[in-house]
Amino acid sequence: MSEYWNSRVKKLSPYVPGEQPKDRKFIKLNTNENPYPPSPKVIQAIKDAAGENLRLYPDPDCREFREAAAARYGVSPAQVFAGNGSDEVLAFAFGAFFEPAPLLFPDITYSFYPVYARLWDIPYRAVPLKEDFSIDIDDYKVPSGGAVFPNPNAPTGIALPLRDILTLAEYLEKQGKVLIVDEAYAAFGGQSAAGHIGEHPNLLTVHTLSKSASLAGLRGGFAIGNEKLIEALCRARDSFNSYTLDRLALAGAAAAISDSAYYDEINRRVVSTRERVMRSLREMGFTALPSAANFLLVKTPESKDARDVPCVSGADFFAALRERGILVRHFNSERIAGFIRVSIGTDDEMDAFLAACEEIIDR
Ligand code: PMP
Repeated sequence: MSEYWNSRVKKLSPYVPGEQPKDRKFIKLNTNENPYPPSPKVIQAIKDAAGENLRLYPDPDCREFREAAAARYGVSPAQVFAGNGSDEVLAFAFGAFFEPAPLLFPDITYSFYPVYARLWDIPYRAVPLKEDFSIDIDDYKVPSGGAVFPNPNAPTGIALPLRDILTLAEYLEKQGKVLIVDEAYAAFGGQSAAGHIGEHPNLLTVHTLSKSASLAGLRGGFAIGNEKLIEALCRARDSFNSYTLDRLALAGAAAAISDSAYYDEINRRVVSTRERVMRSLREMGFTALPSAANFLLVKTPESKDARDVPCVSGADFFAALRERGILVRHFNSERIAGFIRVSIGTDDEMDAFLAACEEIIDR
């Protein structure tokens, strides 16, 4: 706190991202980055853009990036908004679409949502996931200011079928409210709703290049929705910063979206590693939720003395992995305090993770 802070800044409770350690070399499985490098075509496009044109401002319309995304999802460029990572796209969307009735999102979900809601003074209600950690869309069929969740959800990894998303979009459309589906992890097994924005003028899907396109360091995200929703996002952005994406990022982002052959292959490898790791963990008695994303939510086998209590707590499991040079994520939220979230790395990294898990429960 400082006397120079205004009341708005005093009230903020910022999101805390996963660690990016510099002191020591870890097997880094804590922020859902892709373990494989970006497409060589992306690197080349960035090199080609790194020339004297950097003297000039980038394209404020992000035309090339939006055209590539539109072609990929079978929509028109006017139905695509581009931003500096999907976090920024989400921030603009919260500011553009939600007020004043409570916004609904799951009690266990991406922890940036309550932060955006507080930033924009949007009231919200956290809707409990079912016992098995899945979303029940019937819980969202109540008067509200709109809804947002990731599909697959994070950090559970559990996906909702497309028909549920469309049913909810229809319900909210009748209420005049927006549904945002955050598809950060859809490439690893979820069904995208982006192809259905033509049927639902209130449906916005949000996408990122950070996970499936191995470009967390480039900061590229986009949203797909009805032209009017996209116009609102542009109004929000242009009241803030006309150039949210620089020339290098725009070049790399367009190249990434256009190289689906490369990315389909690396993401297929991520999915097959995930399935193998899930099987191995379950064989060792661990609980791993059924994930359609590039991470698993995992807890150790039950303690001998108490039902439903892991033999190693989530916090201790996290610390024991860290001691062994493996960085994962632990969330201090009551319902998932017993779990850690592990991002899917290369096969070698995941073998090291599995060996460490075996050791930790054998102590
Ligand atoms: N949505 C979800 C569900 C996420 O887990 C993340 C990654 N932290 C993001 C959005 C943001 O991704 P980015 O800003 O890197 O595009």
